[in-house]
Amino acid sequence: MMERSYEKYFRQNRLPHLWCPGCGNGIAMKAIVRAIESHGENFTQDNTVIVSGIGCSSRASGYMDFDTLHTAHGRAIPFATGIKLANPDLNVIVITGDGDCTAIGGNHFIHGCRRNVDLTVILFNNNIYGMTGGQASPMTPPGMRATTAPYGSIDRPFDACHLAVASGATYVARSTAFHVNHLVEMIKNGFDNKGFSFIEAMVQCPTAYGRRNKFGAPSEMMKWLRDNAVMKAAWDKLPEEKKTPEKFPIGLFYQAEAPDYGAAYDRVIAKAGGASA
Ligand code: SF4
Ligand code: MG
Repeated sequence: MMERSYEKYFRQNRLPHLWCPGCGNGIAMKAIVRAIESHGENFTQDNTVIVSGIGCSSRASGYMDFDTLHTAHGRAIPFATGIKLANPDLNVIVITGDGDCTAIGGNHFIHGCRRNVDLTVILFNNNIYGMTGGQASPMTPPGMRATTAPYGSIDRPFDACHLAVASGATYVARSTAFHVNHLVEMIKNGFDNKGFSFIEAMVQCPTAYGRRNKFGAPSEMMKWLRDNAVMKAAWDKLPEEKKTPEKFPIGLFYQAEAPDYGAAYDRVIAKAGGASA
């Protein structure tokens, strides 16, 4: 039998996964595992915790053979914050979706960024609520159809990367399921940041989003990602008239040094006369 790469990182008894054929979530999940492996002893199955919310993307934590926590809808970041403060030696990764992170968990997201908690949050953006029924999310582009927007969404969507930068995250990047090596790189670099790292992974959802919006086969959705993503350096030089609504930048948006929440919390403990880490 052909050896499957990275097999040890997955719970074999939980496979096969429930994602639809052609879904991009598996690509993003594998990218996380590749980024973990590239960090050697610093990120292992024993010192890394994966926390997720609810939705198609958040099922990833169940397949990954780490210490994992599948939490309530929108609540992955507060759970992850608690884990990190209780044991700062752990690497804590959050897997979330566009609905989970920017609607139900929107407040937790901005305050996690603001506090600069030392987490790596990876948002699988499929532009819709997949598992919960194809409703429009805050990241559904205008004009696109959803069960709650049968004539096309009229809401202005969030740019989650802009939101993260504005809220205080200290590492913010975007990539796609098509640009998989680039996605691995963005996640790897996010792991190196001491503070709140946010990576948006754009993933194709051929069922809840693609079918309803006539994208065609999953491969067509991946070609769409390929053709519309523009590397950040090229994006910055692109004339405004060429920045059409479908086009979007990928790459590193922001990186800064700032005290992380754990360090600030240690200072409180010291002031209060307790043992500081
Ligand atoms: Fe993937 Fe979409 Fe199917 Fe969910 S509904 S598993 S996101 S293709
Ligand atoms: Mg979604």
